[in-house]
Formats: sequence, structure tokens, C-alpha cells
Amino acid sequence: MSSHVLPDTEVLARYEAVIGLEVHVQLATRSKIYCACPTSFGDPPNTNVCPVCLGLPGALPVLNRAAVEMAMKAAMALNCRIRPVSRLARKNYFYPDLPKGYQISQYDEPLAEHGYIEVTSGGSRRRIGITRIHLEDDAGKSLHEGFSDSSRYTYVDLNRSGTPLIEIVSEPDIRTSEEAYEYLTALKQVLQYIGVSTCDMEKGHLRCDANVSVRPRGETKFGTKAEVKNLNSFRFLKQALDYEISRQVSLIESGEEVIQETRLYDPDTGETVGMRSKEHAHDYRYFPEPDLLPLTISDEWRERVRAEMPELPAQKRARFIETYGLREYDAQVLTATRELSEYFERVAEVSGDARAAANWVMGDLAAALNAEGKEISESPVSAEQLGELVALISKGEISGKMAKDIFQKMLATGESARAIVEREGLRQISDTGELEALINQVLEQHPRQVEQYRSGKTQVLGYLVGQVMKASRGQANPAAVNKLLRAKLG
Ligand code: ADP
Ligand code: ZN
Ligand code: MG
Repeated sequence: MSSHVLPDTEVLARYEAVIGLEVHVQLATRSKIYCACPTSFGDPPNTNVCPVCLGLPGALPVLNRAAVEMAMKAAMALNCRIRPVSRLARKNYFYPDLPKGYQISQYDEPLAEHGYIEVTSGGSRRRIGITRIHLEDDAGKSLHEGFSDSSRYTYVDLNRSGTPLIEIVSEPDIRTSEEAYEYLTALKQVLQYIGVSTCDMEKGHLRCDANVSVRPRGETKFGTKAEVKNLNSFRFLKQALDYEISRQVSLIESGEEVIQETRLYDPDTGETVGMRSKEHAHDYRYFPEPDLLPLTISDEWRERVRAEMPELPAQKRARFIETYGLREYDAQVLTATRELSEYFERVAEVSGDARAAANWVMGDLAAALNAEGKEISESPVSAEQLGELVALISKGEISGKMAKDIFQKMLATGESARAIVEREGLRQISDTGELEALINQVLEQHPRQVEQYRSGKTQVLGYLVGQVMKASRGQANPAAVNKLLRAKLG
């Protein structure tokens, strides 16, 4: 039950929200961050563990170089400054799924700071500041359900303990729930592009907490914020923010105060519920990790990692517009994921016709994938196959209409366009000699229409073209037929 009467839109419009997101991203390394255990998902509980990630006394952590390099790439993609020396720090707290009794995180000397990301918000581009990116290890997982004695016991699976994470903290630059959604979308896109995370929210590879406050429009000071947790989908993020903004506005409107606390989003009710009062940094008794040296990143190492950076979505978008003459919108769609952009480029390359390639990828192919709920990586038609089909149209060997039928057959059978064309004799007839034979035959059979045309009723041309098309069983090139017929009759 809602304990607040939510304000109407007119009241809401007098306030502005201030939002900052803290996003945890699981890095796509094969092994954990401070030991060599695998990070694989779905294995039997407590099988991917060792003294380090079990937190056994005396076990010493070793920092995973691959995790550091992925974090560096994320930092570069988000325009951050990477510290030449950063420090790992213990964040102490007690929880059953945290066997060490502390996380090895970073505190006052994080890996990277002072970045930003561009998001499209309400049609315009805006920069959202990135305060910091730091490395840390994940905890294990408490299993509250699924066992015969779950009513009495909670089980702990430590396979996830020690999985590498980065935490990306934004500046309080976000102003609406839509913008928060766009921010997270842009972040996910860029992290997937550079291959540092799958960002699979369902598997918990991307987790988001939102800090929210409200203030009357025109006010420059920030209001008191609440931190909302348990936002494990894009939809929940938006719903939770909308609810939380309303809740805070109605508190202020009724003369009450927002208290600084941690709140939990409940997807069943769509509401946020107070969970605990906000913990502060001093509650965690942070101190420098004594078992690890400071993390030193030389210019040379940093530049070597920078050289491995792939093209980012924004750069790719600009290049698609520039080199292929694509429209802004098409470039945006075709760069949505790295896989899609690479698929499109391959079709463009093989076909030699980028515009047609864009139309086929965004049109017939997208519709076919959508209908089957498939990703581009699962496409039954490869980029090379689609490229060949588009090339056949460009060269005039088949018509656009024939291509649509052939494409359906390619989807169903996995055969190449050329194979289908040859087997079914579907070649488009553009050869003048062959077409003239057909035309002569049609003209002989329709002397009346020929006479009509010659006496000025030129609209019968359409009828005659139709007859030639019919005689060719749809395979004649209509443009060529049109031209040849005119010449012959005129
Ligand atoms: P804390 O010390 O409570 O952890 P931080 O200053 O570290 O707070 O900020 C944590 C997150 O909260 C950041 O994403 C930041 O942008 C955001 N934030 C800070 N102040 C506010 C505010 N008044 N309203 C909304 N978000 C805020
Ligand atoms: Zn381990
Ligand atoms: Mg903080």
C-alpha cells in the first residue's frame, strides 16, 4: 500500500530531479581478480573457489592484469584520466557472502577520474560527467530459496566471490528518469563495444544503484538524496526513479523532510521502501590494502592498451555517415551494437552498394530477425550471403522483387542467393537479344494495342510491358523492357 498521495503533474513540474548513478560492471575476464579461479557462470556451487576467494587466513591476493587492462579501456572509452598510481583499499563490512570480511576495492585513489559520456536526451546531446571508475571484487551469493530446508537456512555459493568488477560513478548531472535510462543505455553500448563486459543485466553483469534528490526549479543547492537499490532492469530503473521523484516531491509539499537513506525498489508494487539509514565512508573503516602494492600504470602500458582500443560507437556513427553517405538515423541504428555494425559493413563491402546494404539490413533482415526473436549474431543469413544477394540486384541480374522471394528462401534453407537463382532459373533477363525475342512475340500477338499506341494512345505501353513481363514469367528487367518497347514502337 502506498503511504503517500503522489503529486499531480502540475506540482511535479515545479520541481527538478537530480540523479547520480553508481553502476557495477562485471569484467569479462576468464579468471577472478585476485586469484586464478575461473569466472564461469552456472557451475555447481562452491566449485570455482580457492583459499584466496574463500578468504582463508594467510592466502595472498595477486592482481589480475587482464582485469586492470579492461578497466583501463573502460576509463579511456569514458574519457577519464587514468591515475599513474592508484591504490587498492579494504572496505570492511560483515555479510555472510563476504568470507574475507572486507572487499578489496579502491577508495581515495581510484584507477580513473574526471570522465564523461555523451547521451542523447530529448533529441539533443548532453554530457554526463563520470566522477570515477574503480576496481573491486564481487561477493558470493546468498541462496534463500530452492532447498527443502530453505525456510530455516540460507546457503552461500562462493563461485562469484572474487569476480572482477568496475564501479562507475556518475556526477549528479542526470535530470530525468528518461535521461538516466539513456545514460545507462549509452554506458552499456560503449562497454559492450570495447569488449570489457557482456553487460547482461539478467546475469547481474550490469547492476545499478540510483541516487536521487529533488529541488524546486531554479534552486541551485541540491536536496537531500536517497539511494535506491535493486534496479536490475532498464525498466525498473525508470519506474523506480519516477516513483522516488514523486515520493520526495510529495514529502516536501506536505512540509516533511526527505531523509538520507538507502531504499529498495519493489518491482511488484512499483514503489521504493526504506531499508536502512545511509552508511558513510567511515562505517567501512577503509584502509590501504596491505597485501597488494599500489597499482602503477606507466605511460607505455597505458598507450599500449590505448592502441588496442576498437572504434567507439560515436566514431563509427560519424564514419558511416561520412564514407557511406548514410543518414544520421540509419547510422545510429546500424551502430547500435558492434555486431550489427560489423555485419552491415561486411554486407556493404561484399555488395559494393552501401545504401542498398543499409536498407536490407534495417529492412528485410531486421524484420526476419525480429519475427524470430533473434540477435544479429544468430542470423540464419550470413553477411556474405546477404552481400551476394544485394550485389545480384545491383548488377541487374535479379529484380528487387525477385530478391525478396529469394531472401525468404535463404532464410528458410540457408542456401546462397546464387544457388537459389540457378536452381530455380530465377535470373533476371536484361540481355537485349533475349528481350527483343520476347517483345517481338508480344507485339505480334497484340496488333490492336500496337496500333492504338502508334495513333497516340501511349498509355497502352504499360499493358504491353505487362505482357512481356508475363511472357518472361516475371524475369524480364522491367526498365530494359520499357526502353526497348518504346524504341520499337516509336
Ligand atoms: P556518498 O558520500 O553519500 O556516497 P557521493 O558524493 O559519493 O555520496 O555520491 C554518490 C552518488 O550520488 C554519485 O553518483 C553522485 O553523483 C550522487 N549524488 C551526490 N549528491 C547527490 C544529490 N544531492 N542528489 C542526487 N544524487 C547525488
Ligand atoms: Zn579463487
Ligand atoms: Mg561516496
